[in-house]
Amino acid sequence: MAKVDITPPIGIPLGGYDVREGPATGIHDPLHVVVIVFDDGETRAAIVSLDILQVLQQAGDSIRSAIQSATGIHKDHIIINASHTHGSPWFDADIHYKNEIIARSAEAARIAVSQLRQVSLGYGEGEIDFNINRRTIDADGKCCPKLNPKGICDHRVKVLRIDDSDSMTPMSVIMHVVCHSNVFRGENTEVSGDFPGVAKSFIERAYYNSTTAMFLQGCAGDIRPNLPDIDTGGDGYGRSGSEADLTWCGWTLGTEVVRVATQLRVHEQLIQRQTQFKITAAMATLELDADAEKPGQATLQRDRIIGGKSLLPIQVLKIGDIWFVCLPGEPVVEYGLQIEKNMEGLGEVFVMGFSAGDAGYIPVEHMFAEGGYEAECPYTPSCEKVVLDGVNQLVKEVIEKSILF
Ligand SMILES: [Zn+2]
Repeated sequence: MAKVDITPPIGIPLGGYDVREGPATGIHDPLHVVVIVFDDGETRAAIVSLDILQVLQQAGDSIRSAIQSATGIHKDHIIINASHTHGSPWFDADIHYKNEIIARSAEAARIAVSQLRQVSLGYGEGEIDFNINRRTIDADGKCCPKLNPKGICDHRVKVLRIDDSDSMTPMSVIMHVVCHSNVFRGENTEVSGDFPGVAKSFIERAYYNSTTAMFLQGCAGDIRPNLPDIDTGGDGYGRSGSEADLTWCGWTLGTEVVRVATQLRVHEQLIQRQTQFKITAAMATLELDADAEKPGQATLQRDRIIGGKSLLPIQVLKIGDIWFVCLPGEPVVEYGLQIEKNMEGLGEVFVMGFSAGDAGYIPVEHMFAEGGYEAECPYTPSCEKVVLDGVNQLVKEVIEKSILF
């Protein structure tokens, strides 16, 4: 695993909110790309995690090509995840910055390959309390954008501990969380990795900076940090967090990951861990019905709709019994939970949103009638079935592939 700095220069425009006036005024905390490479002796695969808002199709393709030419890892075996930090620029905000991210991602992959060694994997789960559903459904069945303590949420943090020896300090720790990285909202004008950045540095410091932490964002389309704004006369959608709020979220996650990772290092368990994992990967492109004329926040995808169709790339990477299922854009939490249910018994499943592709919010069927921010997408209610069936099909393909070889 390798970590390389991708902090942009002061002066770059920050993305995520239209309300910001002017470019970044400072660096609150640095941004990184973290790459882990797995090799089973025959097949190599890489996971690329970026402290950035989103990675669109073309940017994702460029990162994959750069990594493939730097390391030989086939581009279909490279999965990409953005933390969705709202303290970062859009990937395409600046051509120099864009090229820098691509080059540094390839550099991180090259370093990771040069440090390959035998490891074992330990999986565990913990719980966080700072994330909350942001869709409140009123008496008429319509959605108002308000923090909803009764709404569906996923409070788990999934932890993958990677060890290269019997040490308290793991080689690296991967955490998977479902929560918009926007503790700092539009009022913030400084570059920040938001709570994932704080959590990563908390975990690394807990292990004397001898560990690298990786953050994977789940299906967080309708989930955000629980920062109520009622007392301050807000509209119920949540306040922009303070310094203390950011630390609260980052440390809550960081302490929980360290707790779980510590429990996973029981000597007797460690020595019994499997060290041979077969790697299988597959990719598919789904066709979603889409309406380019539909009003709303769908600007991201609108110009990429051709003939009433929007293309949605999905990816599956299987490492032993550990699955990474990747969807682009901002799928709502319901997708993550349903896909996990559909894959019950197959192993540990990390369902990720914010993978590379041209997609914004991806709601589930019932949300189209309810409305709300997440439903202002160009898709139609059929998208839920197309996505779930597409993932099922791809998972089947991966199972067949892994038996064949
Ligand atoms: Zn978002």
